[in-house]
Amino acid sequence: MKFYNTLSRKKELFEPIGKVVTMYACGPTVYNYAHIGNMRTYVFLDLLRRGLKLNGFKLKGVLNITDVGHLLSDGDEGEDKMVKASRERKMTPWEIAKYFTGVFFSDCEKLNIGKSEIIALATDHIQEMIDYVVTLEKKGYAYETDDGIYFDVSKFENYGKLSRIKLDEQQAGKRVKINTQKRNPYDFALWKKADANHIMQWESPWGMGYPGWHIECSAMAKKYLGVTFDIHSGGVDHIPIHHENEIAQSEALEGKKTVNYWLHGEFMLVDSGKMSKSLGNTYTISDLEQKGYSPLDFRYFCLNAHYRKPLNFTFDGLDGAKISLARLYSAIEKHKFSSGHTDPLIIEEYRKKLINAISDDLNIPLALGHLWTLLKNEPSVDIYALALEYDKVLGLSLDKVEKSVEEKTNIDIPENVVVLAQKRLDAKKSKDFASADSLRNEITTLGYVVVDTKEGFEIKKI
Ligand code: AMP
Ligand code: ZN
Repeated sequence: MKFYNTLSRKKELFEPIGKVVTMYACGPTVYNYAHIGNMRTYVFLDLLRRGLKLNGFKLKGVLNITDVGHLLSDGDEGEDKMVKASRERKMTPWEIAKYFTGVFFSDCEKLNIGKSEIIALATDHIQEMIDYVVTLEKKGYAYETDDGIYFDVSKFENYGKLSRIKLDEQQAGKRVKINTQKRNPYDFALWKKADANHIMQWESPWGMGYPGWHIECSAMAKKYLGVTFDIHSGGVDHIPIHHENEIAQSEALEGKKTVNYWLHGEFMLVDSGKMSKSLGNTYTISDLEQKGYSPLDFRYFCLNAHYRKPLNFTFDGLDGAKISLARLYSAIEKHKFSSGHTDPLIIEEYRKKLINAISDDLNIPLALGHLWTLLKNEPSVDIYALALEYDKVLGLSLDKVEKSVEEKTNIDIPENVVVLAQKRLDAKKSKDFASADSLRNEITTLGYVVVDTKEGFEIKKI
């Protein structure tokens, strides 16, 4: 397999250190609902894990849960996100973390995102983080200020190598003004001292306090994966601060490279812009469900773009994905319930196409394209069997396709009518009868009637 390594900015042949691929992925900060952008990054992680498995690799993956230490900015400014959420929601930080961790994993399940072998909570690893900071201090990379222990980036020669920033070209920015005791603007907190009112705090050699955000990933990766491991992944926003700081801490501590391949998923935009609460465009998977989409419609939407390309989310785009997925199910059904067979050479050719696409830096859109071409062949159970191999990576539950699907996606009916009928069915399922009625009226106006059946619905021309 080849992967694009952010560190070298090149596609490189993947050569794992040992028999089991060791991988670490930055997990969610569990202070709020994960939005669809966050979930795109975890769909990417899932595709990576599935792609490796398809190529015969065994995996040992760690996903962390950030339940302390992530301040409002990715730097060292603002309040701890958990503490802020706790104050606003009148719950303890532990209750907040438990609740949103539960929602996160339930969203993952809905999206067919498999679980990493190890789920590591930051709050379960405070001692490992303290030990890490103590060693960095002993080695001369850390210094104490009134409010915490900081990493001195000027002592680490390669600071900036992942994002390719040059420290001497950077002006002392506003960060240094906020914390005048910092020696360099890019120095970052390893440990923060807590005042008596701070909710989450632990004993440490520097008094009561709590860890900086970056240290958790370095400490937990080392604990579970060893000094050097194969793959570290996350979203592109982590490149300039979080991952740069992880590299600084880990390589300063170990005196050598600790991650061989850095993989980053591009962002999801909404209506070509940033997702933000103030714009009211931070949708969650539940929001999409309430609007009549299934989580797998969203997964299909994500599969259409390569993970290194920004993906612009629009409801028109999601409608398109919904229709395509319904058509895909319908095409699968044709093969599943046939008794035909296909030339083994064709099957082999398409198996190779799958492996080649996945092995080329996870080219999922290409694999999906091959699947569509394959399905255009005469109905055959061999094609169905191969489609299930494709689905080991795509994760679209193609094995669950049943006969009823064709009724829902009758190809003689215009696409917009099928979408309306599906939305109506979903509205009915969520007991939103007012919307279901108005959707039925809309369908009637277009000249069709929708009839409920045991399996779903049937559409007829009036
Ligand atoms: P957080 O919970 O903020 O730590 O983010 C969880 C993951 O979502 C990280 O890997 C981020 O890089 C990623 N992420 C945040 N915003 C987006 C976005 N708009 N599109 C894709 N990934 C995102
Ligand atoms: Zn991390």
